[in-house]
Amino acid sequence: MSDAVIRSTEGRIGILTINNPPVNALAAAVRAGIKDGVEAFGRDSNVDAIVLIGGGRTFIAGADIREFGKPPSGPNLNDVIATMENSPKLIVAALHGTPLGGGLETALGAHYRVALPTTRMGLPEVHLGLLPGAGGTQRLPRLTGAKYALDAILSGRHIPAAEAKSKGIVDAIVEGDLLKGAIAHTEMLLAQKAPLRRVRDLSVTLESPELFAETEKSIARKARGFKAPWNIIKCVQAAVDLPFDEGMKRERELFAELLTSTESAAQRYYFFAEREAAKVKDVPADTPQREIKTGGIIGAGTMGGGIAMNFANAGVPVTMLETSQEALDRGLKTIRTNYENTAKRGGMKAEDVEKRMALITPTLDYNALKDADVIIEAVFETMEVKETVFKKLDEVAKPGAILATNTSGLDVNQIASYTKRPGDVIGMHFFSPANVMKLLENVRGKATEKDVIATVMSFSKKIGKIPVLVGVCEGFVGNRMLRMRGIQSAYMMEEGALPQQIDKVVYDYGFPMGPFAMSDLAGNDVGWRIRQGKKEKEKRNVRYTGYVADAICELGRFGQKTGAGYYKYNLPDRTPIPDPEVEKIIEETSKKLGITRRAISDQEILERALYPMVNEGAKILEEGMAQRSLDIDVIWVNGYGWPVYRGGPMWWADNVVGLKTIHDALLKYRDASGDPFWEPAPLLKKLVQEGKKFSSV
Ligand code: NAD
Repeated sequence: MSDAVIRSTEGRIGILTINNPPVNALAAAVRAGIKDGVEAFGRDSNVDAIVLIGGGRTFIAGADIREFGKPPSGPNLNDVIATMENSPKLIVAALHGTPLGGGLETALGAHYRVALPTTRMGLPEVHLGLLPGAGGTQRLPRLTGAKYALDAILSGRHIPAAEAKSKGIVDAIVEGDLLKGAIAHTEMLLAQKAPLRRVRDLSVTLESPELFAETEKSIARKARGFKAPWNIIKCVQAAVDLPFDEGMKRERELFAELLTSTESAAQRYYFFAEREAAKVKDVPADTPQREIKTGGIIGAGTMGGGIAMNFANAGVPVTMLETSQEALDRGLKTIRTNYENTAKRGGMKAEDVEKRMALITPTLDYNALKDADVIIEAVFETMEVKETVFKKLDEVAKPGAILATNTSGLDVNQIASYTKRPGDVIGMHFFSPANVMKLLENVRGKATEKDVIATVMSFSKKIGKIPVLVGVCEGFVGNRMLRMRGIQSAYMMEEGALPQQIDKVVYDYGFPMGPFAMSDLAGNDVGWRIRQGKKEKEKRNVRYTGYVADAICELGRFGQKTGAGYYKYNLPDRTPIPDPEVEKIIEETSKKLGITRRAISDQEILERALYPMVNEGAKILEEGMAQRSLDIDVIWVNGYGWPVYRGGPMWWADNVVGLKTIHDALLKYRDASGDPFWEPAPLLKKLVQEGKKFSSV
């Protein structure tokens, strides 16, 4: 008998306690222990019924991730669950913590279920590109009806105990001691001579004959490119249409299809990548951290306001400083409106709006920041303003305070040099809108102390962000790679493609929108002003990319906000409409540049839009600006809408396209254009020669 599942008895009730800390994952020993235990109690004439319960902090929280990708050993979960369901003794599953995935599926194999009020259960496999493959798609609909089950499995969300009770997933909520409550419930069932209620024998309620067609329609946009949601719908449909055993067979087939799909491989990779990205190679997990109880923000504009909301949402008081009362009032008003809109939509309670606002203290006086543990600067993007601010912060901030800049393009090392404590300075590059976007590029300066990095990485998580550590370079990781796509998109437009063709290829790949629609959304004037300020034409040996963009801006076509950009818009409808006028501007530009326009294939567009990004990613890795290729993937999936079912640029290059294919394509474009832009990064060349992947670096 293994100690992964401990057997004991209480009167005439056999108890199986799962003992596989920390989360009672369904390892082979646990599966075997449950099966053996159920069989042993089944034969035991001193036992009338069985309680299955998790020891420690939770019932089974899911599959054992350490077994992923390894050859199967021990009984498979479907056999374990069938053994439970077919047991001659009544089984009650006692749920606490987070019975998720295979954990909930196991519980559905019991004849009855009870739960503590705090239990949160669910079938979250969809997030890994999978579906519940141990009967979840067949048993849940039998308890709740098809409609609810479909929604629960498609969303993968956590279901609170009270809701689970109201939907029939659990039979009773027990207060206080779970085991005692479960035993009492079991004794009651025995006294009532309750039947062995096998979920497999229940029939499924189908609320509407249109349910499946309607669900497919309603998820079409969100589930575009993903495989799992479509298979989940087929499974639940099978639960309705087929006898249980055939439904189970269908579930297995559809599960196997997902397990071997690239989409799920990418999503499973990504799931771990996101957790890994929070770790810093030379900053051990036990590095002492500085305490952050209060914050300060300089600038109450677009970014400052959003960042302040992050603090307030996490319950951290923050003082926000501006140069004028008007700017301060404007900033606070925007924050309040944001919160009130959320409250109106039901996203938060009205009294919470006031609670959060009360955490944000406006000020015009730098002395109000003297107690702040972290101060984030989000003022205008010029070195002169940053210099003034950081010199002032150096005077007023308490010793040990972390001084962060939200600059998107300036040199963090130079900013740090305006203080006498560059070790306390770090970049925290939020994305807009800062209260919504999860990605946070934390920028390590050459002097940034390790405890500052450790503190900022964990504080980022506290304020709900997904942090990635990057180095100081132009555009950091995300914008630096984005620029490559922008350059080629501009050239392809001059050579013969139209914005709508390029955008469609990028959209069809899986991005929420293409580069031109994105530029229209963000405002074409932003780049235009920067180009006017800088001598972009001579920069970095890159041929000027702004001819069409400049012409468009000169006509006041700044994008959605002016009703026209690369597309026209019938505002308030934001659907981009291709515009012959833009086509004319593009054709005239080609003519002026002496370029004969040609048809550009979708394949060429895809390669020229995405391969240079991968090549830039290789340079970033080589320079140590990102720690690992997975960090780059996390940045692109979270910050720029790279479809998660393609893993991110580097995983896609490693595992789908292959580095040699990318390398050879770069050479092909280099030789055709004579443009040094296409030179493969030395790291890419090296990896191709050695037959290795980015993930090996
Ligand atoms: P913004 O113009 O909306 O806000 C800047 C605010 O700073 C203004 O309210 C201004 O009054 C205030 N300010 C200017 N000088 C100040 C000073 N000396 N002291 C105090 N306040 C001062 O600009 P933004 O879009 O919020 O950008 C702020 C910073 O964030 C910039 O460095 C920008 O590069 C960076 N950033 C912006 C975005 C974005 O998408 N907008 C994204 C990432 C990073």
